[in-house]
Amino acid sequence: MQTTIRNQVSFNGVGLHSGQPARLTIRPASAGHGIWFTRTDIVDRDPLIPARWDVAEHSPLCTKLVNADGVSLSTVEHVMAALAGCGVHNALIEVSGPEVPILDGSSAPFVRGIVKQGIRMLAEPLFAIEVLKPISVEKGDATATLTPADSLKIDFEIDFADAAIGRQRKSLHMANGTFVRELCDSRTFCRASDVEFMRANGLALGGTMENAVVVDGQEVLSPGGLRHSDEPVRHKMLDALGDLALAGAPILGLYTGFKAGHTLTNMLLRALFADPTAYRIVDCDADCVARLPGVGLHVSDLAAVA
Ligand SMILES: [Zn+2]
Repeated sequence: MQTTIRNQVSFNGVGLHSGQPARLTIRPASAGHGIWFTRTDIVDRDPLIPARWDVAEHSPLCTKLVNADGVSLSTVEHVMAALAGCGVHNALIEVSGPEVPILDGSSAPFVRGIVKQGIRMLAEPLFAIEVLKPISVEKGDATATLTPADSLKIDFEIDFADAAIGRQRKSLHMANGTFVRELCDSRTFCRASDVEFMRANGLALGGTMENAVVVDGQEVLSPGGLRHSDEPVRHKMLDALGDLALAGAPILGLYTGFKAGHTLTNMLLRALFADPTAYRIVDCDADCVARLPGVGLHVSDLAAVA
């Protein structure tokens, strides 16, 4: 069955790139609504923005959605990952400005808020997107692939020159509370050398040593160090789940990312939906539902979260 959040929940913070204060409220929505954002500061144009792959603009540092009136919302991926990972299929998300608040740089604050309010079952069946054949995209030496599988699995590998990150690979079956236990508290990361460049270009203005893991060579500059020894690859998997959630329904397939990012995952969804023989929409029966992210999620799954 489809779900929504039981009661509304709000979050206050700043935008990672804009540095502007932002308030975000997740509100319950009815079955068939899907996930939509609305900009509460926009009064002269359509403020509604669908959380959908076909309105995502290519942006290397975050996932930005833009509606037909040109109203945009940046950095949607961490709240999208939280909703997908907790198994929330319908919600209206109000945001007071052009960017989702970064909070601690991970999805954990969103997950805590959602789990605290609880999930409500709705009286409508759930659909899923079944991958029928391998679809691949590449950009330089980065690749992203979807292949058939009976539930969502994410396999990710990164390779950075900085020894503090280096080569990391992780593979997870995303059923049940896996996202919450394994991925949701992993923070976004960047290299100290990139910070100056981003700031000079008006980006990362809301970035701090607390809401991003900053590395320089073999050193982790952020106080307290890493939350997991492989926190960077876990965060890339979190981003991938959030970006895949823009498909509009749970995906049954294996996602494999090598040095992939927001742009490549979006290109992958575009390639999937451009080929009608590559996927089909299926009713999610009890067997299928049992393998979805968030099903059976329990408050105790939060115990391991930083
Ligand atoms: Zn991210």
